[in-house]
Amino acid sequence: MSNPALRQILAFYRDLGITELYLAPPPTMPEQLPNPLTVLSGDDTLDLIRQDMGECTRCRLHAGRNKIVFGSGNPASPLVFVGEGPGADEDAQGLPFVGRAGQLLTQMIEGTAKKEGIPVVRDQVYICNVVKCRPPENRTPEPDEMQTCGQFLFRQLMVIRPKAICALGSTAAKALLGTRDGVMKLRGSWHKWNDIPVIVTFHPSYLLRPYNQNAKREAWEDLKKVLHYVYD
Ligand code: SF4
Repeated sequence: MSNPALRQILAFYRDLGITELYLAPPPTMPEQLPNPLTVLSGDDTLDLIRQDMGECTRCRLHAGRNKIVFGSGNPASPLVFVGEGPGADEDAQGLPFVGRAGQLLTQMIEGTAKKEGIPVVRDQVYICNVVKCRPPENRTPEPDEMQTCGQFLFRQLMVIRPKAICALGSTAAKALLGTRDGVMKLRGSWHKWNDIPVIVTFHPSYLLRPYNQNAKREAWEDLKKVLHYVYD
């Protein structure tokens, strides 16, 4: 590959907020290296991203996973929810937000939409996470894991190009906005990821803790805001 082409690819990734690249494919699975030229050509698709991911071993999280949790929902959705990473139920089923937190997320989306007269159900939005493999003991993903797996998330978002993104929790906010600020500080106003408006709200698993009940009202407010922005 010529230097100008390589520079163009690196600039593209830098614009996406990616500062570290895995430069060589794992020796056992050479076909897994994503082809950045495909990304540049605008021909990228969710299927291609999933294909590039393969049985990914690019970061240490692969060691404890059962299933990769790529994402689910409407691939043409104007609204994408981004969480942190799979938990036990998600890891077992290969689907995002299917455990208790997922049920709460469904209630939050559908309950708010119904109350606000917006005809949207969960299947009509797209839901994914920053990391696609379950961190051990549900720990927070490490920066290098977020960096490596974030490349897939960014490609997903570039393909879907939603009207808005809802970041669920501080890990998603950090991955998208490169900020160290927490949800308390970030919620309530609009941010941007590559010109796409981003709302930050609490992760549903945070809202499940009994002592965080006050945050629920704020999360409903955030959802109301993003749903009206996208669907009005
Ligand atoms: S978390 Fe992402 S980068 Fe790490 S092994 Fe899983 S799919 Fe690959």
